[in-house]
Amino acid sequence: MIQLTNIAYSIGGSELLKDISLTVSPGEMVAVIGANGAGKSTLMRILSGLIRPSRGSLSLDGKDLFSYSAEEMARRRAVLDQQSVLTFGFSALEVVMMGRTPHMTGARKNLEISLEAMKTTGTDHLAGRSYPTLSGGEQQRVHLARALAQIWEPVEGGERYLFLDEPTSYLDLAHQHMALSIASRCTQAGLGVLAVLHDLNLAANHANRVAVLKKGRLTAVGTPEETLTPEVLRDAFGIETVVSRHPATQGPLIVALHQPNSTQNNHL
Ligand code: ADP
Ligand code: MG
Repeated sequence: MIQLTNIAYSIGGSELLKDISLTVSPGEMVAVIGANGAGKSTLMRILSGLIRPSRGSLSLDGKDLFSYSAEEMARRRAVLDQQSVLTFGFSALEVVMMGRTPHMTGARKNLEISLEAMKTTGTDHLAGRSYPTLSGGEQQRVHLARALAQIWEPVEGGERYLFLDEPTSYLDLAHQHMALSIASRCTQAGLGVLAVLHDLNLAANHANRVAVLKKGRLTAVGTPEETLTPEVLRDAFGIETVVSRHPATQGPLIVALHQPNSTQNNHL
């Protein structure tokens, strides 16, 4: 289990996260929702060990997360960041193969796993393409394949974790569902998954727990039924919603209400 206890994170004099405690357990998917700038990416980067909190503790399987070597962390968890820094010079397959860097499994096995991961995200036909020439959605699915290739096989001595920051932001409807289904399959395989999501209905359908972030504080953590309520959503997003039952899953179904008065003084 990854456990954050009473953490805070400050940079340049501003406190981006305040007194946050949260866990991600093997076999569960936690969705993080909240307005732009609420601190979701910062929280994900802390939970995945990419940045250190200014205060509080972060543990993996009961041990300080930062006591693990970078190599061990790379075998235990993969991160799909919101912005990818990679720009040119690589084929799609080479990008996915980067996920295999922490593993000493040999070139042939690494290629086999990378191609399987690309099949899983529907990008195997793009393997030979130059990465920068891919569409935004294709690039996002290639990066998802890279993350999957990184945590493809069980590792000795601990569970695996997958961190996804807005994994569906460039994806069409079918691929949004594909990405979340892959994440759900990961939880069934015993991985702990944390996903930052803007689509509340994707969160409602796929997450076991939802964490709601507002201005660097957690305002609600619980099941989708407990957290995706008009009251919580009004507080987090400043918008009115109607929450009904999803006809197929019986979980919450969220519809935002149009508020005509909110743009009263706007000439547009
Ligand atoms: P979210 O992912 O919820 O949109 P972020 O975690 O990316 O939000 O950022 C939270 C807030 O912190 C934002 O207002 C952002 O502008 C600010 N922020 C992020 N990184 C830095 C930084 N390195 N220095 C100063 N402010 C930052
Ligand atoms: Mg973000």
